[in-house]
Amino acid sequence: MTDRFVHEQGASRVVFGVGALDGAGDEVARLGARRVLLISDRHSAAHAEAVAGRLGGRVRGRITRTATHVPGESADAASREAAAHGADLLLCVGGGSATGLAKAVALRTGLRIVAVPTTYAGSEMTPIWGLTRDGRKETGRDPAVRPVTVIYDPALTTRLPGRLSAASGMNALAHLVEAAYAPRLSPLTAAVADQGIRVLAKALPRVVTDPEDMAARSDALQGAWLAGWVLGTTAMGLHHKLCHVLGGSYGLPHAATHSALLPYVTAFNRRAPRLGRVAEALGAADAATGLWELRTSIGAPASLAQPGFGTADIDRVAGLVAAEPPAGPRPVEPAGVRAILRAALDGARPV
Ligand code: NAD
Repeated sequence: MTDRFVHEQGASRVVFGVGALDGAGDEVARLGARRVLLISDRHSAAHAEAVAGRLGGRVRGRITRTATHVPGESADAASREAAAHGADLLLCVGGGSATGLAKAVALRTGLRIVAVPTTYAGSEMTPIWGLTRDGRKETGRDPAVRPVTVIYDPALTTRLPGRLSAASGMNALAHLVEAAYAPRLSPLTAAVADQGIRVLAKALPRVVTDPEDMAARSDALQGAWLAGWVLGTTAMGLHHKLCHVLGGSYGLPHAATHSALLPYVTAFNRRAPRLGRVAEALGAADAATGLWELRTSIGAPASLAQPGFGTADIDRVAGLVAAEPPAGPRPVEPAGVRAILRAALDGARPV
């Protein structure tokens, strides 16, 4: 029997492949844009330069610094920049922070986005925006912020260091795993999630062994695309909620936080029936231990312990998360969240 489901997906044009960046000029031209605001992060300056070179003088303004979790002041400044240049298109090159800044500007201005992602965060495929003000991260959904065109070029990811690739890969896996217990999951999203997990579980160990392995990089980026698509079509649950609280209130690095938490939130939700399919896609007997083993094998961040966050903060985070509990297979109460956070600080094999 097919269970009840709701399926809603927006459309982005996706251009994928080694050398896809060469088509950036054509992609901008087919949107009829003439005044582009180019947003890139610090490590993507060379890629942004390469994009600018393909736009034939259409770049009117540039933002070359981004910050994780999109501080409100950055969004204000970038929106002013877009207005000052009369921008008719935002083009972002970089990780989820560059995409996030473009989305914050699109939310206010209605400008369309072309995204060129260089990590596995997946934001480029979602209508989800995030903004941090006064130590609190707010997120929402708005179709206007979903990039109209996404250019995935695996060649842009070979410089992403092994540890960051591993952490970012765990971020992508989190989108796919959390779909397992999303309410009213559609069969299409379920199938895509299974495929994304299979692809990433095989590609990530190859990526960290040889960051220049283009075949592995292509597969990992394909997995990131599927992960972003799944996140965009499902609701977020406890895992993402925890990451948002830790990112917004404690400034923890996004991908590393996903990596530190994922096996333990999965263990907490162990009773969700679809986690059996996650385990199968990972080639493991159990989803939580399979994720822990994959994380260990690729050397992804294994502890939440960071300057500014430790055992003393557990009670406050548990209170914040339990005050607005996300839907999921198990009630979210402070004691359960405390246990997850303690386990994620410790990093041991989940029980
Ligand atoms: P990031 O964009 O902050 O990038 C992390 C670091 O990697 C930065 O220093 C960046 O300069 C560097 N970098 C990026 N690409 C590189 C490359 N190819 N080679 C070398 N260095 C590179 O981090 P992220 O994990 O990609 O994104 C995190 C942000 O994205 C968070 O703010 C998170 O909330 C957001 N996000 C949003 C969604 C959504 O749907 N809205 C989904 C996932 C993540």
